[in-house]
Amino acid sequence: MKPFDYIKPATVDAALAAWTPGAAYLAGGTNLVDLMKTGAAMPDTLIDVTRLPGLAAIEDLPDGATRIGAMVRNSDLAHDRDFAAAFPMVAEAILAGASGQLRNAATVGGNLLQQTRCSYFQDPHSPCNRREPGAGCAAREGVNSTHAILGWSEGCIATNPSDFCVPLAALDAVVEVQGPNGGRDIPMAAFHRLPGDTPDKPFALEPGELVLAVRLPADARATRANSRYLKVRERTSFAFALVSAAAGLTLDNGRIAEARLALGGVAARPWRVPEAEDMLVGHAPDRDLFDRAAAVLLEGAAPSGDNAYKIELARRTAVKALDMAAAGTPARVPALPASTFGEPAHA
Ligand code: SF4
Repeated sequence: MKPFDYIKPATVDAALAAWTPGAAYLAGGTNLVDLMKTGAAMPDTLIDVTRLPGLAAIEDLPDGATRIGAMVRNSDLAHDRDFAAAFPMVAEAILAGASGQLRNAATVGGNLLQQTRCSYFQDPHSPCNRREPGAGCAAREGVNSTHAILGWSEGCIATNPSDFCVPLAALDAVVEVQGPNGGRDIPMAAFHRLPGDTPDKPFALEPGELVLAVRLPADARATRANSRYLKVRERTSFAFALVSAAAGLTLDNGRIAEARLALGGVAARPWRVPEAEDMLVGHAPDRDLFDRAAAVLLEGAAPSGDNAYKIELARRTAVKALDMAAAGTPARVPALPASTFGEPAHA
């Protein structure tokens, strides 16, 4: 491992002032430290932000929004009873990710900024445009069965690995950041960038910007009675999604008044298509209707390697998640969160 400096500032302002090109902010370390061990990341300074004041709270704001501090641990968020009741698809997604130990350490801010699990990105001896612009992409001709089917480019076919970010995108979350030039809000839909010609810039952050919090707007609670996250993976725990879906419905007299739908595991960001949601509104929940919406959601999908199977898998996952959401949110998060083998709704 390359030697590095470690500093632990006491305030957000001090953390921002300490940042220089080559430095990295350190939170739970469940991703960054792994990348440092392999040599895929080599910051010269780690700025530990875990003890900065004011970043570890879950707050209800006067406008009805919910603000989650960037240093809230994943486990603490998922097990907060009020939060899980208001945003059950978010709690279910968090509990479908990683392992109990990792969720205890991993933070909200770090989850947003976790790197792709493309194995060539993590191996510094493999060419990777995301790690080193212009180097090439080993995954194009390599092992790529889990890679992207939407939004990919010739330069990079990696996916975003987060479960948490999928319902955040579906619910129109906003990311609060602070940087050398002040603070700003970034809509979740714009926080993760598609690779295009610049796969080395996967996040919409300017140099030195620090994630302070994520806000869920007041109307994101509207789907809480009919809200699910479904994750298809190679084993039922401690595995990244091949495909996942967050689905939320607001039902009024048996008809869909509002729909939220996003896919994970298919692109470099959570995948959401407003037209697919709009076509559900005004209709009663119905399998044929869900099939048509899933087809719109997956328009333009194309294999980037040995992954054509993910197109049909994503379609079925979206339909199943909508079916499960229409059946109702379970009274408590299932023992196997986000699993097709979990308990039925209202169990
Ligand atoms: Fe790197 Fe992206 Fe290619 Fe993976 S898919 S090797 S992350 S450029």
